[in-house]
Amino acid sequence: MAERKVRVRFAPSPTGPLHIGGVRTALYNYLFARQHHGTMILRIEDTDSTRFVPGAEDYINEALAWLGIGIDEGVREGGNYGPYKQSERRDIYRDYVKQLLDAGKAYIAFDTPQELEQKRKEIKNFQYDASTRMSMRNSLSLPAEQVRALIDGGEKYVVRFKVEPGRDVTVHDLIRGDVTINSSVLDDKVLYKKADDLPTYHLANIVDDHLMQVSHVIRGEEWLPSAPLHVLLYEAFGWADTMPAFVHLPLLLKPDGKGKLSKRDGDRLGFPVFPLDWTDPKTGERSSGYREAGYLPEAVVNFLALLGWNPGDDREFLSMDDLIRDFSFDHCSKSGAKFDFEKAKWFNHEYLMHMDDAALAQDFKPLLAEHVDVSQFSDDYITAAVATVKNRINFLKDLWPNAHFYFEAPTEYNAKDVRKRWKDDTPERMTELIEILNAQDFDNVEGTEQAVMDWIDGNGYHKGNVMNAMRLTIVGECKGPGMFDITKILGKQETIARIKRGIENIKPAN
Ligand code: GLU
Repeated sequence: MAERKVRVRFAPSPTGPLHIGGVRTALYNYLFARQHHGTMILRIEDTDSTRFVPGAEDYINEALAWLGIGIDEGVREGGNYGPYKQSERRDIYRDYVKQLLDAGKAYIAFDTPQELEQKRKEIKNFQYDASTRMSMRNSLSLPAEQVRALIDGGEKYVVRFKVEPGRDVTVHDLIRGDVTINSSVLDDKVLYKKADDLPTYHLANIVDDHLMQVSHVIRGEEWLPSAPLHVLLYEAFGWADTMPAFVHLPLLLKPDGKGKLSKRDGDRLGFPVFPLDWTDPKTGERSSGYREAGYLPEAVVNFLALLGWNPGDDREFLSMDDLIRDFSFDHCSKSGAKFDFEKAKWFNHEYLMHMDDAALAQDFKPLLAEHVDVSQFSDDYITAAVATVKNRINFLKDLWPNAHFYFEAPTEYNAKDVRKRWKDDTPERMTELIEILNAQDFDNVEGTEQAVMDWIDGNGYHKGNVMNAMRLTIVGECKGPGMFDITKILGKQETIARIKRGIENIKPAN
């Protein structure tokens, strides 16, 4: 058989912000599609109007675009298999429901919610299936005339799938191998509701996979129980020879224990579980996202890719292109992946550190503009400044607190550092230091440092006190990158002006 063209779909329901687990599902679909030069479809599964949330679809599009997860066919992109939004496909589904009814593979059921509730009370673990359906009110148990009369009388009904009991149903899953379950444990799923004139998720999802010629159904583990229905419905429609391959991805687990990662874990432990910030339109409740928390999309993609998959060697840094080349279901784990948030931070740190200095400076500019007039500083100056502190940051927003002294001279001096380092004789030392510095070429960092060290050693001064006093005048506190890397960037004039100001303004604590 000729190799099948790879067509995969990410099929979210717009019921709120896209969870980070959903993002990983989208990512794996995308990687697989790109690797096989296939097609990535974004299908919006919005047949459940009671759960529809305005803004959720836009959120999904924005999140995927931010992360560089490209879509080939979808609501915005168009394509030959549309519409890509299920609420716009009602007419299509109606025909398929009729097809099953005509073939006797589905039936009409009139049971009211109250009647079903009553049954559940009477029969423990009640399930609507072959063992109970003849005791219910449906087109199999009632005479044909009565069924007709009920329908003509406008009685509400649903269409249920008639699951034949006692059959082994095998789902071929590329991670889990063959998963076989007996059809007797399945219930007669509702496929269509007359009241809404809409199919349920089950029918729409499966019919669309067929019509959109989906080759691989790649989705979260929680959908594994629906997979046998997928198989049975494909068979019932006569589509068995184009059955998609299944891939049920491992769950994302809480960082500190068992169970599925939830929004509450994020709130409790202080990390986002959504790609972007989100404000619930009804409750106004806000949820934080990776983008606004200062993550680089490349770092998020790298981190997510490794939650449930590994490259088979010890590489940790993988670009989107690396992932597209090396991704494979063979290296996906069956067991859940613990969500290690510290690792996400570490990835961001590493990505920032390896970012091109000039690019980092450009990203920093808008944040810098919140504090100073950026036009006073050349791109080269900002670039040189960020290069000295980038190994100290986890997020872009950490740049300002670590680099502020390049852009504003200190007006206050850390009291604790002053107490420790500013002695009675410090002003005198600093005056001598100015003279030494005046004779140096600041671009020669080692030479400047050597001259200062020679002066300290030659006079038997306390190196820690002198150097920290110098740092106090220039930075305002006793921390930061190498002293002479800083002075090289600030330049001689600014450095000496700051030391002079320190001599005037810093008073010993005692
Ligand atoms: N609409 C389902 C969801 O929200 C789709 C599951 C699937 O991929 O089949 O996850």
